[in-house]
Amino acid sequence: MYNLLRQLPQMQTLLEAAHIGVLLQTYSRPEVTRALRSTLQALRGGVRSGHITSLPDFESKTFATSLVGSIEARRQPNMRSVINATGIIIHTNLGRARLAPEAIAAMQAVGANYSNIELDLNTGKRGSRYAHVEDLICDLTGADAALVVNNCAAAVLLSLMATAQGKKVIASRGELIEIGGAFRLPDVIEQSGAILKEVGSTNKTRASDYERAIDSETAVLLKSHTSNFRIVGFTSAPKREDLALLARNSNTILMEDLGSGVLIDLSAYGLRDEPVVSEILKSGVDLVMFSGDKLLGGPQSGIIAGRADLIGTLKSHPLCRAVRIDKLSLAALEATLRLYREPHNPVQSVPVLRAIAQTVGEVRARADWLADALIASGLEDVTVAKSAAYVGGGSLPQQDLESYAVSVSAPSYTADALVAALRSHEIPIIGLIRGDRFVMDARTLNDEDLPIVMHAFRGVRAR
Ligand SMILES: *Cc1c(COP(=O)(O)O)cnc(C)c1O
Repeated sequence: MYNLLRQLPQMQTLLEAAHIGVLLQTYSRPEVTRALRSTLQALRGGVRSGHITSLPDFESKTFATSLVGSIEARRQPNMRSVINATGIIIHTNLGRARLAPEAIAAMQAVGANYSNIELDLNTGKRGSRYAHVEDLICDLTGADAALVVNNCAAAVLLSLMATAQGKKVIASRGELIEIGGAFRLPDVIEQSGAILKEVGSTNKTRASDYERAIDSETAVLLKSHTSNFRIVGFTSAPKREDLALLARNSNTILMEDLGSGVLIDLSAYGLRDEPVVSEILKSGVDLVMFSGDKLLGGPQSGIIAGRADLIGTLKSHPLCRAVRIDKLSLAALEATLRLYREPHNPVQSVPVLRAIAQTVGEVRARADWLADALIASGLEDVTVAKSAAYVGGGSLPQQDLESYAVSVSAPSYTADALVAALRSHEIPIIGLIRGDRFVMDARTLNDEDLPIVMHAFRGVRAR
């Protein structure tokens, strides 16, 4: 071992080797040095642990070529586009909503240039960044006023902070959710400076439970979407109308943390039980909060819509500035909201909604095309089978969407090895493992994704 360690060359010697010297014509000295240093480090570690018992020929062309791989890899961006073949449309790990071309164009225009983000073009005076989307949101939800912040978690925090600090917030035990990423509603309430008063039980809470808990210290009655879970069986929750009446009579505020938040009725596509924002406001809820990048299909953002006096209070709260939306997201949000109005049809123009609304026939045709292409490329064991896709993003946890998936087994690859190889492609393909097969759900694939998937398979099999 000590012998091998002693044979490891000095950095300077390596840099003078002919094949490595050639690399310096293409790559900078620090890049080559860094690649050499990490290679030497790996070799040293391997020798010490006994995994490596012989050293490469440092003078060889092969060794120099191996350095190119690591230099090129370091030049690649860490954050890249991937192909979502998981069948989960709003996949938090994969960036949630894909944006419409109109939203991308708006970000491009506002990002590459100066913009009127806080300039009123009519008066030439300072304008409000919120004005660009407020009317659109009011128009689409029937709200009197609206405000947009960084994300829905910030929307909930700001709303509670501005209305309930030092006061009581009443919430049902059946709705005190954790949605992942350490967002636990009881903790958020505590962080806002409000005092949580839990009422009811896990499966049953009635309006009378809220009523009994209301006292002079109560500021807010809070409802929240249970997002990623459902309580089924012997359950009951109060009607919004009843809570709204209670709030009005007790001079408290009825708030609802909706999470996903849909602007249009999706029951025609088999998704029931997802209340539309305008219906919620109509039933008497004072403020609703929802995400811009879940079912709405826009950029990361949090929308608060409802009573004008409360929105005014929120806008003038010091925390509002700390959670404000950036110009790129705002531009993308405005463009996305416009796709809900004439002359557009959101179900065709907003990618999230299009993925939900496409017929199972379209999904199947895409799966068949991909399977045929994979077979034509030489893979023998490729099948198409029915599968279930999901909306994801904390919406509709137990409602699936009919779908079709392509299932592949490649010679000399285990399913795990195939998953890993496709994940390390230049544009990674993220699929699923079912039993001993690699599976790609066609509902989350675009037609434009298919050549990329084919390219990845060719690359994997050429190795
Ligand atoms: C997703 C979700 C949030 C958080 O939304 P972000 O936009 O991710 O901050 C809050 N509340 C509920 C009920 C959710 O489903």
